[in-house]
Amino acid sequence: MSLPKIMAAFVAVLFLTMPFHGYTQSKAGFVAGSVAGVQTIVTSAAIPIVFDTFFIPKTLRVDYFLAGDASTEDVFFSGMKQEPYWGGPHKNLTDPFEYGTYRYSAYDSSTNKKIFSRGFSSLFQEWKGTDEAKKMKRAFPMVAVMPFPKHTIRFVIEKRSYQTDQFEPLFDRFINPSDYFINRESIHNIRSSKIKDSGDPDNHVDIAFIAEGYTTLEMDKFRNDAKRFADYFMTVEPYSQNTQQFNFYAIESPSDESGVTIPGKDIFVLTNIHSSFYTFDMDRYLTTFDTKSIYDIAANVPYDAVFVLVNSKQYGGGGFYNHYGQSTVDHNLSLIVSIHEFGHSFAGLADEYYNSEITYSGMYNLKFEPWEPNITTNVNFQSKWKKMVAEDTPIPTPRDPKYAGVVGMFEGGGYLSKGIYSPVMDCRMKSNEAPGFCPVCKDAIARMIQFYCE
Ligand SMILES: [Zn+2]
Repeated sequence: MSLPKIMAAFVAVLFLTMPFHGYTQSKAGFVAGSVAGVQTIVTSAAIPIVFDTFFIPKTLRVDYFLAGDASTEDVFFSGMKQEPYWGGPHKNLTDPFEYGTYRYSAYDSSTNKKIFSRGFSSLFQEWKGTDEAKKMKRAFPMVAVMPFPKHTIRFVIEKRSYQTDQFEPLFDRFINPSDYFINRESIHNIRSSKIKDSGDPDNHVDIAFIAEGYTTLEMDKFRNDAKRFADYFMTVEPYSQNTQQFNFYAIESPSDESGVTIPGKDIFVLTNIHSSFYTFDMDRYLTTFDTKSIYDIAANVPYDAVFVLVNSKQYGGGGFYNHYGQSTVDHNLSLIVSIHEFGHSFAGLADEYYNSEITYSGMYNLKFEPWEPNITTNVNFQSKWKKMVAEDTPIPTPRDPKYAGVVGMFEGGGYLSKGIYSPVMDCRMKSNEAPGFCPVCKDAIARMIQFYCE
């Protein structure tokens, strides 16, 4: 998902850094935590899965490619790795949200019990809607991460069908944890620091900031930038009400050259993870296809979410649910862009704007509710934020100044001006001018924070 067009300026504030080294990963079981003012998650998994029965606190990473064209899609297995930390929750192993165009799951092979699942999004699904995908096939590298299993699992990747809105299997294989083809090579050790330490990674949100486009001589700048972005995240509601739930890491992955590639301006810069502007020929759309390098770097810390900080003054970013987010650091809107993109990558929020110069054909089937919590097709508004709309607010709600700041159901959102509705007239997921996230987005973010902290 991309970011809104630029309209206004924003002044950033610099903070000092607090370097710190070394992490411990608790092998103890789940410790209950709570998040103030957050709704309880309604989970479909009635019987809790005990982490220590099925997993050890390391990561199993499965590498694969999502490949195809506008009308076909396939998964090509690429490899497996064991990585040293597991930063994710020990309690919430299966995903209660049902967000994401895709989902991967692990089933205990002896009982067929689902023991882990996560929804996610990809750059491939957006590319499928472009004209290029009507003419050629293309492959996008992907990774799936989960706690390292103790026993053989069945690993499944599913895709949500456009026609039926149901998940359908794309890939399926057994993984035996003692398989010697699970790569156990050491990770590339990269210097990192914990820039905010609230406690045990098991029951906190652990955000790994990855340096992109910073040379070894620019790591003081990166540490300052990472601290500046972490501090900013913690000022934005609802993160600001939950600051004690967050750990932040700065991973000082050095690039050979400073800056980032901008193909449309004939600028090519050799960086860590090969980020580039002009994704799908949109000048401000900054992404990377090199997902494996992102996760190779992230493996240095126990993470829940990875966010790439790109050393550039250009306006740009990108974010994909449960995959990665990124933004530049030195544009005057960079902080706002980063929190917007993190809304995509961390909380599965949709873009609420509908004036995009790119329309991804076939992204939303208007016969169904989109999976994102902050847009609706009004097919089942009850399942979204209807309970947050006051009785005297008309549905749909006119885009009239008298409804500014009011929660309603405003036509326009998800790149479409008709057929998809947003919760408010303006939100951080719609524009850079919005005062912040709307109540519906705040609620969705707060539920995601709670998910990682229980
Ligand atoms: Zn919103």
